[in-house]
Amino acid sequence: MRYVCHISGGAGSAVCWLRALDRYGECEAVFANTNSEDPDLYRFLDDLEKYTGRQIVRLNNDGQDIWACFRKHSAFTNGSGCLASWRLKQLALKAFQQEHYPDAENTTILIGMGPDEEDRQIRIAKKVAPYHVDFPLCWEPRLWNCDVQDFLKRRGFTLPSLYDKGYPHNNCGGACIMAGIAQWCGVLKDYPERFAHAEAEEQQMLKIIAERGRVEWTILKDRRGGEHKTYSLKQLREDVEAKRRLPDDNWRTKSCSCMFTWGDD
Ligand code: SF4
Repeated sequence: MRYVCHISGGAGSAVCWLRALDRYGECEAVFANTNSEDPDLYRFLDDLEKYTGRQIVRLNNDGQDIWACFRKHSAFTNGSGCLASWRLKQLALKAFQQEHYPDAENTTILIGMGPDEEDRQIRIAKKVAPYHVDFPLCWEPRLWNCDVQDFLKRRGFTLPSLYDKGYPHNNCGGACIMAGIAQWCGVLKDYPERFAHAEAEEQQMLKIIAERGRVEWTILKDRRGGEHKTYSLKQLREDVEAKRRLPDDNWRTKSCSCMFTWGDD
């Protein structure tokens, strides 16, 4: 059996790879680059390579970032989720697997999903079939979010900097189109230049969508007053600046107070 770990740049998939190496000795790691990541994500990948003494295969999607992907297809979603995630991550990884691991029956894909993500695990198993799939964070002792971060700290890793600011995921520099209003208020405060870039790109996308005669679609939706309206990043910034909307930091993940311990390192 050959083992391949999908590395996202987050803590979960990093631990997934380390646990797989501990158990199997060999496991290739593959990272699909959205070219929209926080610079510290790449530092974290470099640290993983130094720690393991192995290279991570980096699929660079010809340098295309999420916004280039949205513009190219005049859409933000593929109908069921983020278009960039589907094209730059899922399709890129699938093409890599088919080329380098054509023997699906004898290949197991390892994914960094935790024990609290059963529904997603079932969905991903269907997607990667006929490849086998496994979830090393669910091996005993099972590891939840805070255990995962502890695992890395105990091995001397510096966690990706987005976690220090309470972002739940280290993807797309926190500026994720699937994140809600609260997190985007956080991006505006923490990374104003990142927000400004997304705001300008969204305005460009709104023009493209209008030119194509498509239904207007914004990243965010405004549900105030019981109505469900489009709500651009520009409108959000103007509302925050005029204090018509007060940012709420409750979305940020709190530091872990879990007392769970385990003994696998
Ligand atoms: S982090 Fe968000 S915006 Fe980036 S690829 Fe994933 S779903 Fe899309």
